[in-house]
Amino acid sequence: MVKFKRFFCFLFSLFILSGTLVLFTGCSTEVEKVSKSLSTYNITATLGTDMKITGTEKINYVNDTGTDLSEIYLHLYPRAFREDALIKPYTTLTMASCFPNGISYGDIEISNVLLDGVKADFSITGSDEDILLIKFGYSLAHKNTIIIQIEFTITIPNCTHRFGFYEGSINLGNWYPIVCNFSDGKFDTTPYYATGDPFCSGVANYNVSLTYPSDYILASTGDYTTTQSGDNTTAIITALAVRDFAMNLSEDSSKLTGKIGDTTIYYYGYNSDEKLQDYLKISEKAVEYFNKTFGSYPYSTLSIVKTPFIYGGMEYPNIVFVSDAIDDEDEYLKVIVHEIAHQWWYATVGNDEVNEAWLDESLAEYSTALFFEAYPDYGISYSDLIKNAISSYSLYVDVIETIRGDVNTKMNLSIDKYQNDYEYSYMVYVKGVIMFDELRNAVGKDRLIAGLKKYYSNNKFKIATKSDFYEAFSSACHKDLENFFEGYLNGTTIITNIN
Ligand SMILES: [Zn+2]
Repeated sequence: MVKFKRFFCFLFSLFILSGTLVLFTGCSTEVEKVSKSLSTYNITATLGTDMKITGTEKINYVNDTGTDLSEIYLHLYPRAFREDALIKPYTTLTMASCFPNGISYGDIEISNVLLDGVKADFSITGSDEDILLIKFGYSLAHKNTIIIQIEFTITIPNCTHRFGFYEGSINLGNWYPIVCNFSDGKFDTTPYYATGDPFCSGVANYNVSLTYPSDYILASTGDYTTTQSGDNTTAIITALAVRDFAMNLSEDSSKLTGKIGDTTIYYYGYNSDEKLQDYLKISEKAVEYFNKTFGSYPYSTLSIVKTPFIYGGMEYPNIVFVSDAIDDEDEYLKVIVHEIAHQWWYATVGNDEVNEAWLDESLAEYSTALFFEAYPDYGISYSDLIKNAISSYSLYVDVIETIRGDVNTKMNLSIDKYQNDYEYSYMVYVKGVIMFDELRNAVGKDRLIAGLKKYYSNNKFKIATKSDFYEAFSSACHKDLENFFEGYLNGTTIITNIN
C-alpha cells in the first residue's frame, strides 16, 4: 500500500466450477505447476444494483498445515465495516476521506455452511467477531482435502476504502471469506487494523463467476471472459496460485492493453483522462524493469486501476488500485511503480504484512527508487529520493523526540503497535529506503541486486520471513548481514542527516 501523504509533504480457458482444476491456457508453466497442490476457491456471486453480493463459495481445501485439523478459521473482513465493529479499518483522521457521503456500513452474513455436502455447524468468533469458525467433527489429516461450502450475503459500504463503492466505482478487496494463514501451530485471526495492510495469506487457485450490471467494466485478479444476458454480464474468472483475489467495477472506465513478456498489462483509467497511454507505458516499463532486475513475473495478467481510494494505492495479486485523488503527477507515477513492485514483494514473494510489514513495504519503496534511477527521463532522481528520505526521516525523529521526549525508531513492530500512520510510514517505508541505500553504499549495487534476485527466486509463492531475507542477502553479498539489518529493525542504528 502507499499512504496518501508522507511526512515530507508532511504528512504523507478452460476450467470447471466443481473444484477440480484442469488446464488454463495462457498461464506460465511455473504457475500451473505450483497450482496443482493448492486449495481452490470456487465462488459464484451476483452483484445487485443495491450494492449487495449474494453468492456461494466452495473451497476445495487441501490441509497443508503439516498437522491434523479438527476445525478451520476464515476471515470475514467485511465485518470490520459493520456498525458495531470494535476495531475499525479507518481512523478518526481518515474517516472523512473514507466516507465523503457520510458514514456507511458494510457486512457479510453467513447463512449456511456445508462440509462435503453435509450441513455443518459454524460460529462467528475472533476478537471482533470477524472470524468464521467451522468445526469438522473429525480430524482432517495433513494433505487430505475437504469441500467447504459457504453461502453468504455481502453489503458493500458507500466509502472509498479497499472494500466500498463511491461515484460509480466499486472496490472489492478483502471481500470474501478467506482461510486464515496457519502459522506456529494455529490459525492467525488478526483483525482488520486501520494501520498498514493487516493481511497474510498463502497462495491458492480461484475460479470465480461474477454476474453484475452491464453498466460496469470489470478489472480483476486473474483473467476472464464475459457473456451478456439482458442487463447483466457474467464474468468467468480464473487465477492460479495467487494469495488473494480482488476486483474493481467502474462505470467510467477506459481499458488499455499492453504486453511485456508473457504478461498482459491492463491500465484502467477514466474516459476523460488525457494521459492514459502514458500511464500504460510506465506500467509496462515497470514490469519490464522488475522482470529484468528481480526475476520474471510469473502471472499472465496485471491490471492497474484508477479508482476513488482513501490511500495512495493498494496492491492485490494481478491487480493494483491507484487513487484518483492524487493531484501531483510525480506522486501518481510513483504510486503506480510502487504498487507494481508489490507484485514481486507481497504478491509473488509473500510475507506476514502484520508482523513484518517492513519486508514488502521497504522493498516496494526502494524498488520504486531503483526504477526511476533506471528511467531518468521521468525527472525523479534516485539521489533526490534518498536525500528526501534521510532529511524527512531526521526531521520526523527530531520533531517527535522534542514533542514526546522519546521516539520509536523500530521497523519491526507489528502494525497495531505503531501509534499512528505517520510513525508507521516513517519507520516502515522511509527508513526502509534509507536502509537499502546504506546497504548499497556498503556492498555495491550489483550485490544488492543479486540479493534481491536471490530473495525473489528462493521465496516465490511462499510466505517469506526476515530469516529468508537475511539468508538471501548474506549469501549474495558474501557476508553475514544479520547485524546490519537488525540495527535498522531494532532502532539501534542511528541515521544522521548530513545534507
Ligand atoms: Zn506499499
